[in-house]
Amino acid sequence: MEISMPKFAYFQGKIRPYSEAKVGVLTHALNYGTAVFGGMRGYWNQDEEQMFLFRPFDHFKRLLDSARLLMMEFDLTPQSLTQVAIDLLHAEDYRCNVYLRPLAYKSDEIIGVKLHGLQNELSIIAIPFERYVTNDTDAHVTFSSWRRLDDNMIPARGKISGAYANSAFIKTDAVLSGFDEALVLNQDGHISEGSAMNIFMVRNGVVITPPVTDNILEGITRRSTIELLRQELGMTVIERSIDRTEVYLCEEFFMTGTAAQVTAVTKVDHRPIGSGVMGPVTEQLRQAFSDAVYGRNPKYRHWLTPVYAKVAEPA
Ligand code: PMP
Repeated sequence: MEISMPKFAYFQGKIRPYSEAKVGVLTHALNYGTAVFGGMRGYWNQDEEQMFLFRPFDHFKRLLDSARLLMMEFDLTPQSLTQVAIDLLHAEDYRCNVYLRPLAYKSDEIIGVKLHGLQNELSIIAIPFERYVTNDTDAHVTFSSWRRLDDNMIPARGKISGAYANSAFIKTDAVLSGFDEALVLNQDGHISEGSAMNIFMVRNGVVITPPVTDNILEGITRRSTIELLRQELGMTVIERSIDRTEVYLCEEFFMTGTAAQVTAVTKVDHRPIGSGVMGPVTEQLRQAFSDAVYGRNPKYRHWLTPVYAKVAEPA
């Protein structure tokens, strides 16, 4: 994946040149992982010459909730943060798909492991972004030998930077062994999610995904997917724990996330899933998701926030 550098950053309360958005090596968050982050997409609709932010209020609400878990308070709301994101995108003037990375972090440059009594800062950057999983129509996954962090270790429902060392172990071992991604088991042996995506399987015609109490991130794509499966595909969706061997026997399997969008998994640990190619539910869901995020389905326009003001028609 090609990464281009941002020109600007929202940093210390203002939009500044990206080169000024720097922290010292003693910064608390850098040493102890005491930061939370988000990941959000803006989709460029060429026909309307418009960029749509996908569910920015939900993303910023989750960011502020994650921040609360780390005892961070900000004088900011999902609405005010959405406006900052829009201002930043105006400064960048992107006309392509983008990824936004908000980050809230403990900014003190001190020694001392704790959460309380520290300063907090919040930054946002935006970069052009397309696919995250290269083969998102036939991914091959494995079960990781690493286990997912438990709610009583580092809560998965908060997008806490320190916890992503766990995701990095999971992803690197999978990729270096030739897989695209890995599925991670809880301490009790049920599947939680992937390294940075939620998971779904279709078994006996029903869609099943782990509940939010199985150490998953409460994914915004997951929430959107459940709605699309029910409303657009007429599917039954159940939230319940999933055993490892159910994946070997299911008809379809897919992963969802801001970066991964809807990624079809067609092989697990060298075994074909279902017929070994992307199945009809996943294919229809990918189309419904794409229609929703690009603003092509008016029913889901309320998920989208336009970035560029429409130029008024001449009278
Ligand atoms: N799980 C983890 C661990 C993640 O990092 C992500 C990416 N944010 C997801 C699931 C998917 O969440 P979302 O759909 O909100 O991006």
